Order: sequence, then structure tokens, then C-alpha cells
Amino acid sequence: MNLPQAAAAGAALQQGLEAPAVLPPAPASVFADRAARFERLADGHASGDWLAFLARLTRTQHALLQNHPPADLPSGTARALALSHGMPALPANGWRRNPVWRRHLAALAEGLQTQAPEVLRPVLAGLPAIGEAELERLADGVLRTEYDPAHSARLPFVAAALQVYWTWMAAQPALAGLARLDVPGVCPCCGSLPVASVIQAGQYAGVRYLHCSLCNTEWNLVRANCTSCGETDKVSYRVLEGAGGGAPNGIVRAEVCDHCHGYLKQMRRDKDASADPVADDLATLALDILVDEAGYLRGGPNPLFIPGSAGEHRPGP
Ligand SMILES: [Zn+2]
Ligand SMILES: [Zn+2]
Repeated sequence: MNLPQAAAAGAALQQGLEAPAVLPPAPASVFADRAARFERLADGHASGDWLAFLARLTRTQHALLQNHPPADLPSGTARALALSHGMPALPANGWRRNPVWRRHLAALAEGLQTQAPEVLRPVLAGLPAIGEAELERLADGVLRTEYDPAHSARLPFVAAALQVYWTWMAAQPALAGLARLDVPGVCPCCGSLPVASVIQAGQYAGVRYLHCSLCNTEWNLVRANCTSCGETDKVSYRVLEGAGGGAPNGIVRAEVCDHCHGYLKQMRRDKDASADPVADDLATLALDILVDEAGYLRGGPNPLFIPGSAGEHRPGP
């Protein structure tokens, strides 16, 4: 670690002591802000049609979250037990899902049918015909990041529906007060991997949080640590030169680690408060290509983009 890094890490550590360890999602704004960000990033972007569609998908997620029916949550005893064992309270892998998530999927399929790019319309039209058992199997795969290639075009919609359900649960007051797990790289609420990390603006300016790819919970991790292996001395940053395919410059960088050869993107809310870990990630896939080609393996998924899915055939690079 060089001197400025050490100073930054020290400052973050100092601020990290005051910043909450875990920030639950804000249900009123998380999807609405993301949709607005997708819209802004779509403008003039080589993959603008696809990003604009994801804006509409995210607006539908917002509407579903605002009207979410009550669903079971872990009991106080179960939460205390999970906390004492350093386990997530709402484990993506193992939590008994309420069937409401399949209603979200049906609503996404219906609501997006006329707004989808041509290539995705048959995919959306076919979703209601999939049986419950098969949908639950696809959900299990999404939640374990074991994507069935035969269904890859459907999986981003399955993931979007599961995100609504898990975000609703994660935002309930009963889930407040979570602590970081012993494994720093997984979500303290649901145990999923992060989609990206964010450098906060405002009240906790400069503090780094990881952002959950499923439930939108954020958890604090000291800036200088690799998000995958925790090492501090082999972390460096890669950026896209130039405009980056329409994505704003300087907001997104890839944090690469020469110890574990993993990487995760970092979104700088301190440079642009509207930067979003999901939307800015999908607007900068060229950065993933750059870093993949340099031999680094991505440390967390963005389930709205599953390799091999129709989204991959989006126009442009
Ligand atoms: Zn989570
Ligand atoms: Zn590492």
C-alpha cells in the first residue's frame, strides 16, 4: 500500500467506526433511483435500447415493491440464532420462499410485454406458461449463481422478481440491526455476493460499502481491502479510457487484486451521487471485457445480465 492509499484507508477506517456496518435498502427510492439512472445512461449509449428497457424493468420493480403484500419473515429467535452464528438472516440459499415472487414475475412479464425489444418479447410471452416447480428450480439456480444455459434469456426476469421480494424483506424494520458476517464478501442479510462496491457521498462520504446483488442491502468494508480475499497490498484500479461507450468517465473503476486475481467494480457516488451499482455496472460492460482479458475473474454477479441471455444480443459493443 502506498502512502495516499494508507491515508485514505486510515480516514475510511476512522469514518467507518461511525458509519453503520449495514445499511438496509430504502424501499421508496432504491428501484426508482436506479430506473432514473438507467434512463440517463441509455441516452447516447451504444447499448441505449437495452439500458432503456432495463429502466422500464426497474420502474416495474419499483411499482411492485410499493404494493408488496405482507410475507413471512424470520422469527426473532431465528434472527438471533443467525446473528450469533454469523449467518445471514434471510439466506438466499435455503430460505423458504413465499410464492409472491412468482406473482412479481407474472407482473413483470405482462407489464413489459409491449415495451420489450423485439428479441425479448417471445421470452416474456413464454414466462406465464412455465410451471411452478420449474420456476422454483430456475429461482434456486439464480440464487446460487448456477445459471441454466438452456434458460438464460428467462433468468434476468426471474432474478428481477426475486430482487423485489428480497428487497421488501430486507427493508422491514424486523431486519434492522444486522451485523457484518465473518466473511466480509457476502451480504449480511441474504448471503449473496455483491454486484459492486460504492464509495458513499453525503453523510458517510468516502466510506466504502458493498452492494448486494439480490436484496440491495449495503455493508461496510474498509476501502483498501480486496472484496474477495481481504488482502490490502495487491489492490489496484483499472478504468476505461475515453467516454467508455457512453458511460460517464471517472465514476466506475474496476478494483483488481493480484493476490486472488479477482475484481469487482467500484461506483463513485462521491463523484456523482446518482451513480448506481447495478445500472452503472451494465453501462460499463466494456470495462469487464478489459479486465477479463487481463486475467481477472469477477467477484459477484449482476443477475440482470446473464451471459448467453437475450440481453447479451443488445445492440452495440
Ligand atoms: Zn443481500
Ligand atoms: Zn483478492
